[in-house]
Amino acid sequence: MDCIFCKIAAKEIPARVAFENERLIAFHDLFPQAPLHLLIIPKAHYSTLNDVPSSEASLLGEIMDTARQLAADHGMAADGYRVVMNCNKHGGQSVDHIHLHLLAGRQLGWPPG
Ligand code: AMP
Repeated sequence: MDCIFCKIAAKEIPARVAFENERLIAFHDLFPQAPLHLLIIPKAHYSTLNDVPSSEASLLGEIMDTARQLAADHGMAADGYRVVMNCNKHGGQSVDHIHLHLLAGRQLGWPPG
């Protein structure tokens, strides 16, 4: 499959990996929008959030829990952070493999553009 994030998960292309287990991998965004900008992805390919069956809800929970843990590991829990998963065109999704953005280290604006 020609998916850039599958290739990162398979170590076929490089990334700055921050965390990995059997199901997930987290790595630094190539174009960071904050001092800490990680992407947490499942190793299994799901194109969008719409494609994740409810039977895999625990995987979504694990992705969120990993973001929370990584924020704490990087000393960002108390000041705060943002987690975002874009979906399809109106959500601004540009890579068709689900990924949770973890952004931290500066005051983030709201609402997003
Ligand atoms: P989205 O717009 O929500 O689909 O986010 C995709 C993110 O992937 C963007 O923030 C990109 O900067 C990031 N990105 C694209 N290619 C790579 C890559 N090879 N390594 C790390 N981050 C990437």
